[in-house]
Order: sequence, then structure tokens, then C-alpha cells
Amino acid sequence: MALDIKSRKPLIIAGPCSAETREQTLSTMCALAATGKVDVLRAGVWKPRTKPGMFEGMGVEALPWLVEAREQTGLPIAVEVANARHVESALKFDIDILWLGARTTSNPFSTQEVAEALRGTEKPVLVKNPMSADLELWIGAVERLQKCDIKNIGLIHRGFSGYGVKEYRNSPMWHIPLEAKRRMPELPMFCDPSHICGNRVRLFDVAQQAADLDFNGVMMESHCSPDTAWSDASQQITPDALSAMLDRIQWRATESQSVAYQNSIDELRGMIDRLDNEVFDLLARRMLAADNIGRIKRENNVMILQSNRWNEVVARVQATATKHGLSAEFVATVLEAIHIESINHQNRVMREE
Ligand code: PEP
Ligand code: MN
Repeated sequence: MALDIKSRKPLIIAGPCSAETREQTLSTMCALAATGKVDVLRAGVWKPRTKPGMFEGMGVEALPWLVEAREQTGLPIAVEVANARHVESALKFDIDILWLGARTTSNPFSTQEVAEALRGTEKPVLVKNPMSADLELWIGAVERLQKCDIKNIGLIHRGFSGYGVKEYRNSPMWHIPLEAKRRMPELPMFCDPSHICGNRVRLFDVAQQAADLDFNGVMMESHCSPDTAWSDASQQITPDALSAMLDRIQWRATESQSVAYQNSIDELRGMIDRLDNEVFDLLARRMLAADNIGRIKRENNVMILQSNRWNEVVARVQATATKHGLSAEFVATVLEAIHIESINHQNRVMREE
């Protein structure tokens, strides 16, 4: 009977980034199972590393350790597979859950190879988001699996890579997993706070946010001796620390039947609907003004883009909006969208016969 990854919510997947030795694998996994809060044990045995010479996983040698951990704990085991050879070995050891890593999802050739090697499997297959913020590539990987008659599919949000010093190792860009949930509502969505954060500081906040965004569970890296881990040392936490964190995460209800709640929420939602209407009425009026600007620019043969004027607009709006508690990032995003729409309007007017 294949494991149902959808019905248990939250589903907690935890384990070391990599299986390093038999002792490290068993002591970490037994400690995780002993918390009684973990549903699935994870470990990487093939590690896709950015640079050659880094620890690339113990390979097939580690699979019997995982089988032993399963026997000792009674918990299912999850492993990353990135090519047909990996799949063949994982299936030989009857690994319970397979996942495609971010680098595999990024590469249609690899995804196709794994999908074909897994053809028809009833085992759950979890698909991490690709490295870049490319929703279609993520959906494409799911479609490749579905075309190979794989039905028990789940998604893992592990954040998106970027350049330079960043707040997160991989930016969460929550709107992308939310859009993925909207496009593929039948698939459970899990969050991987470990690879989003890259350190221990915000693990709880990211996991809590996932819980509040109706995710089905989390995949967390945990190691019996995190600081000495052979991969991803800075983001792993001990089984004890994980247990304490899992106690703190609140998996709230989707609804409340309380009459007082229903009344207040209805009133507030009514207010939001009215405000949204006003916001878009104002934006429409703003675009009518842009159309008129387009007309006089055309009559006077003046080009659309006026960088200095736009810089002034941005500075003025930023100064007042941040005073109202709106984040600079939000204001910049909204202004950028308004600017593009305004330019499109002026463009249309300029081209009118
Ligand atoms: C991992 O889970 O250890 C891993 C390599 O993750 P990702 O594919 O998200 O980088
Ligand atoms: Mn890792």
C-alpha cells in the first residue's frame, strides 16, 4: 500500500542533509523517530554539489543504512534521485519516497530520465521547485512525471536562488508556491525551510509562514551533530531542537464556526472589497491621465520615457508611503507595475491613427 502523503496534515519529513556514516544516519534517525513528531525520514545519498571536490554523498553504500533506520523506527524513508541509475538503486532497496532536487527540476533532460525510470510507480514522488523563479519549469516537471503514469506526486517549496548577499540562501518568493498551489490544487505542497534559510535563524519563521499559507507540511534538515555535518552544516539542527521547534509551529484551522468570528470577518472582507474597488477605480483614472499625457506628447513630438520625472514620482511616493507603514519593497513593486502600465497606455495613444 503506497503511502498517502496528502491525508496526513501536517506531514513532517526530517533527517540529515546527507547520510554520512551508518552511525550518524541511525543515531539521527532514531532520535527523530523517538520524538514521535516525525512522519518520514529523509537523507541524501547522491548530493548535487555546486563545485567539484565537495562531499558528493555516499551513494549506494548508504542505502542499507536507511533500510536499517526504517526497520528500527518503522518510519518510511525518502531519498533524492537525479538520474536513472539512482532510481534503479533506490527501487532495489524499496525506498518509500523519492524526491527530485531543485537542480534536477531545473533540467528537463534529467527530469525526463527520472520520470521514465520511475514509470508507473505508486510511490510518492516529491518535486522541489527549480533553482530559478520559473513556475512553468516546475509545472513541466510534474507533467513529465504524470505522462509517465506517476500519480502520487507532491511539491516542495525550497526557495529560489539569486545573486549576491541575500537575506535568505534561497529567496522564498511565496507568491510562486501559492500560484503553484492554485495551478495544481490537487497536489500537496510542502515547505523546506532549511534550504530557504541556509542558516538556523529563521527556520521557525519560515515554517510558521508555510503553516499559515495552508502548506501540507515541512521537510527539515536535522543532524545529530549539525556543526560537523559534511554538507549544509549551518542550516541543520539537532533532533531535540527540531522537536522543540515542531512544538512551537501552529497549524491553524482553515475556518472557524464561531459566530463572532464570522461576523467580524464578513465586515472586514466587505471593507477590503470596497477598498479594492476604490484602488482600481483610482488606477483607471490615473491611466486616463496617462492617455492624455500620451496625446500631448504625440502632438509635441516628445518621447514617452522621462526618467527625471519618474525618479521624482518614485521618491515622493516612497517618502509618504513608507510613513504609512508600507514596505519600500512593496511600494517599489507597485510603482514599477504602474509605470509599465502607464507606458503601455501612452504607447497605445502614440500609435493611434
Ligand atoms: C537537499 O535536500 O539536501 C538538497 C540538495 O536540496 P535542494 O535540491 O533543494 O538544493
Ligand atoms: Mn541539504
